[in-house]
Amino acid sequence: MLSGTLHLKSTAYGTSVLGSPLLYFPCKSQCDLLVMAGIHGEEPETTFLLSRALRVFDGNLESTAFVLCANPDGVTLGTRGNANGVDLNRNFPTENWNAAPVRSRSILEAERDMELSTGSAPASEPEVNAIIGLIEQIRPRAVVSLHSPIGCIDAPEETELVKSLQAVFNVPYVKDIGYKTPGSFGTWCKERNLECVTVELPRLAPELLYERYGKGLVEFLKLKSLSKP
Ligand SMILES: [Zn+2]
Repeated sequence: MLSGTLHLKSTAYGTSVLGSPLLYFPCKSQCDLLVMAGIHGEEPETTFLLSRALRVFDGNLESTAFVLCANPDGVTLGTRGNANGVDLNRNFPTENWNAAPVRSRSILEAERDMELSTGSAPASEPEVNAIIGLIEQIRPRAVVSLHSPIGCIDAPEETELVKSLQAVFNVPYVKDIGYKTPGSFGTWCKERNLECVTVELPRLAPELLYERYGKGLVEFLKLKSLSKP
């Protein structure tokens, strides 16, 4: 039977603009992988899918850490950005960070009809600073960042991690998402030689995502939980 609660213990790694604790689920030993969901508040299905998958574990994983929701204020408010209206995935201190507002689509078929701030300065947002601090503290070898609803796996190289995620999600691998993403988390990782794989879940209701990918994601995490960094 699926547990109604998580048996992993969480720790705060920071505080959001509105004062929500930013929670993560630490590794039991040295961290190999960090899996992060919910950096865009309009993608709560990423949090749902990851949470459901984690219910099978009776405690924290050996070498994989989790952030179930990197942007709790955005989820609470139902906005892509945080409470300051900043797209956190454009606020990372990268060489190409840009003060110009970014545009995104309100639905896949739309023009880029939604404008968001990239922040008053690189890493101006507490949620971004907290992620940076967390990564510097736990030093994972790789990060998986869950998004939706494009349906692809985006990473600069087709690594073993990319291949194992492809086996779970069965979506195309792309070397480039096809539009500029200044100040993105992926770019920040690349500048630090930290492997980052962006999984864009396909456009499906949360229940269907769980039905389609829940089992595969659990298997992937079980394999990861056995591996030592
Ligand atoms: Zn996203």
